[in-house]
This record gives sequence, structure tokens and C-alpha cells, in this order.
Amino acid sequence: MRWRGGRSGGGVEDRRGMSGGAMAAGGGGIAIIVAIAAYFLGIDPNAANSIVSQVTGGGASQREGTFGTPGDPEGLFVDKISANINDVWAAKFGDSYKPPASIVIYEGGTGTACGQGQAAMGPFYCPGDQKVYLDLSFWKQMEELGAGSAESARAYVLAHEVGHHMQVLSGASQKVQQAQRSLGQEEGNRYSVALELQADCYAGVWASNAPAVSNGEVSFEPGDLEAGIEAAGAIGDDTLQRRQGGAVRPESFTHGSSAQRMEWLRRGFQNGDPSVCDGTFAGL
Ligand SMILES: [Zn+2]
Repeated sequence: MRWRGGRSGGGVEDRRGMSGGAMAAGGGGIAIIVAIAAYFLGIDPNAANSIVSQVTGGGASQREGTFGTPGDPEGLFVDKISANINDVWAAKFGDSYKPPASIVIYEGGTGTACGQGQAAMGPFYCPGDQKVYLDLSFWKQMEELGAGSAESARAYVLAHEVGHHMQVLSGASQKVQQAQRSLGQEEGNRYSVALELQADCYAGVWASNAPAVSNGEVSFEPGDLEAGIEAAGAIGDDTLQRRQGGAVRPESFTHGSSAQRMEWLRRGFQNGDPSVCDGTFAGL
């Protein structure tokens, strides 16, 4: 994947090295398990956060980090990919697209408007402060899950989270929450899946438009999309349920099956138009 020539200024807020409620020593193993559960099985970050803040005693400090372009390769990658994602959506939606308030990179734990964020939760978007939270150690966990170490897989995760920000801007998130109030668990989950697959589709649309807004400086080489698709497949709900040794129960899915996630990422990439992503709600 090409990205180094892309512009900087993706709105990164660097909180690495700030103390913000790191988990107690010895909690690492549990942390990884919770990460898998929270990110992949789609526990609502708000709910997961409040659980974590109960465990850690709350007190989520919302101290801001350093804004600007990080100098290290991992931070720089996040900054440049975020800048390109913002450029794609500004090109598609004009002024009605507002970038996330920041892309927070942190380690251990950090305060968020959704409660205490923990690396254990995997990447997430907090609607309360409109920030994406990303602990870079998650890349390692993705590798351990067989989701690949390719840069394109990492970029896909980032674009997926910004997709959730777009759903707040479009009102899709609020509509789903409203619908879920009057629905049972099973039917409510189908709405959550539609929302997740729409975010996957947005990630595909982003990838297909990335070169056009960067004079080709951010672009995908043959095999890159496959790596992203492989990541989507490795983190489908069915694959993860199997990995945990359980039977696959589609009615409990909140992110969609591996096949669905791959399909919508591909569909977004091939089509290149975000309106195609509304199709995940068809039939609901
Ligand atoms: Zn998601």
C-alpha cells in the first residue's frame, strides 16, 4: 500500500505516554480476551466502557493529548490515512462532512466522553465526543487473530471507525438506536449488523477513492484489498464464535458474518459511491 506521499494533518491527538488508567498489572491476558469480545463481538462501546469504568473505579480524566503529526512511523501512518479519509468524504459530501474531533492514539487507558477507554476494547468511536480511539497495540492483536499485519488491513479498521462517525453525521446511528428501543434483542441485533456492514462498505468506498484525492499518493496495490478483505473475514462474528469454541449463532451477531463483512467491503470498493452502502439496511 502506498501512503507516505499523502498529506499530513489527519487530526491525530497523541496521548501515548500519558497516564490514563492503565489496567492493573497482571490484567493483560484478560485484557486481550475482553478486546476480542468487545471489538469483534460488537459489545456496544458505551456499555463496555461503563463496565470497565466500574472495574477501574471510573474517574475518566479527559485530558487532551498533543495535536499534530506524530514523528514515529506508526503515528504518521494513522495521521496520513486519516487525512486521506477526510479528503475522500469532503470530496463526496462537501461541507456537510465534518471530520471526527480527533483520532486519539493512546496506550493502556484513557478518558473518553463514553467512559474510561481501555486498550482492551479495541478501536472504537465515541459519539459523545466524536473521537476515534485507537490503541496501537491492537495491531499486534489483529496479527494474533490471523487478521494480517498488512497496512491495508490497519487502514481498513481506521476507515471503518470513521464510518461510524459518518453514521452519526447522517443520523443513521440515531435512527438505529430509536428503532432498537421498540425491538426485541434478535431484531435489534439485525439493525446493529446493518450499521456495522455499512461502516465496512464505507471503508471500501474510501479505498476506491483514496488515489483520486491524493494524486495517487495513497493507493492500493494488487493484493492490498485482499488483505483488507482477509481482515474483515478474520473478524466476522461467525469466525470469532468458532474460534472461541462455541457454536455459530447468527441471531447473536452484531457485526455480521465474515462473508457479509467481506462482501460489503468489496461492494463499496467496486462501486465507489457511498449511497450503495445504504443497501445494508434493505429489508429491515
Ligand atoms: Zn464497528
